[in-house]
Amino acid sequence: MKLSQFYTKTRRSMAAQDSINAYLLEKAGFISQVAAGVYAYLPMAVRSMQKIEQIVREEMNELGGSEVVFSALQPKKTWEQSGRWEDKNFRQIVYLDTDVDMTFGATHEEPMTIAVKQGVQSYRDLPVILYQFQTKFRKELRAKSGLLRGREFRMKDLYSFHSDEKSHQQFYEEAAEAYLTTFERLGLEAYRVKASGGIFGAEHSDEFQVLCETGEDEILVDHQTKTGFNTEIENQLKVVDVKKLDRVKAIEVGNIFHLGTKYAEAFDLKYLDASGTRQSVWMGSYGIGISRLLGTLAELFNDENGLKLPRQVAPFAVVIIDLTNGKTGRKVHDLLEKAGIEVLLDDRDEPPGTKLVDADLIGYPIRLVHSAKTAQDGKIELKERASGKMTLVNLEDVVKHVSRLLSLKAKV
Ligand code: ATP
Ligand code: MG
Repeated sequence: MKLSQFYTKTRRSMAAQDSINAYLLEKAGFISQVAAGVYAYLPMAVRSMQKIEQIVREEMNELGGSEVVFSALQPKKTWEQSGRWEDKNFRQIVYLDTDVDMTFGATHEEPMTIAVKQGVQSYRDLPVILYQFQTKFRKELRAKSGLLRGREFRMKDLYSFHSDEKSHQQFYEEAAEAYLTTFERLGLEAYRVKASGGIFGAEHSDEFQVLCETGEDEILVDHQTKTGFNTEIENQLKVVDVKKLDRVKAIEVGNIFHLGTKYAEAFDLKYLDASGTRQSVWMGSYGIGISRLLGTLAELFNDENGLKLPRQVAPFAVVIIDLTNGKTGRKVHDLLEKAGIEVLLDDRDEPPGTKLVDADLIGYPIRLVHSAKTAQDGKIELKERASGKMTLVNLEDVVKHVSRLLSLKAKV
């Protein structure tokens, strides 16, 4: 792709933002703030989020999920029926259009349960595993951390429906494994920690936390097993156990819940078991913060020059800057593109300094610079953003070299 045909604008100077991720992502032209906790995603962010979503999608499909897209609007009466409207913790985060009594979806247990009712008659129809990528709306009182806490944000939410507690438990563990694989593929080391059921009313939920000093959560962890507890349930732990654990700050990137038969009972979601008896369906819900993940990656992977997003989520793998007449740059671009590499040719009419600064700010994993000096020896300069390592590569070997670097990096 040519940068002259792709809309993106970096910023030279910018006022301080509420967080590192908001500052860097806005400066690098990924996002544009609309209001506190409300952002527009610009083309660079869309490409990164699509990559994050694709990794999550592959793992959810592997888990047996079927992808759906539910409506963001939900009738208030369904929330009354589930009893959640009475729960003030819940009600305080929900946006409501009082003219039509519709809420803007903060989460989707109600519509999912209602929809599944039509497809489940007997035990043979279970389990059902549905998931979606969706924009969620929540009245967050502290929307002060860029993409980490939005009032409008992107989430992957999955809902599972089972015939009994045992099959729910089994799936819950499989989902936890799939979450760990997902975060690892994204370049993140996630800890599985026990937390309160929170506003969902279950006994304990499991959170997936990524260690980060600027994170909102405080967790007690064992670094060996990568497990621990959210300090919100600290008072339920034995003092001796707590002493052995490390107290660290973290970002919750995912959360899984046992819902029991709460929704099945509220919406009369029943099935006939093998003996012909009507039973309530057991449910679980499983969330991943897609936009929060982009914020987390920006918060963790950066330096004084800008973003250093991992290769598998960076918007493009390679940028080419040609400081001569542009012919070689175009040629290398075409060769890389033909080899299936996501390459961007910086063909803007801008000074070399601007192009080099932008390349670091956006953080393309590989930067290729063609100059009169390297051209003399038939070479091109290759810089790896993550390590800063520079090499001179023969022009005829560039596709081979870049492909090798990218496949090495993709293996996480
Ligand atoms: P938190 O404790 O951070 O408010 P939550 O328990 O309300 O999170 P869930 O309702 O389980 O979160 O949502 C699933 C996932 O969606 C979370 O693990 C998180 O990654 C993401 N998420 C939740 N709220 C927000 C938000 N306001 N902005 C961005 N992502 C969010
Ligand atoms: Mg919350």
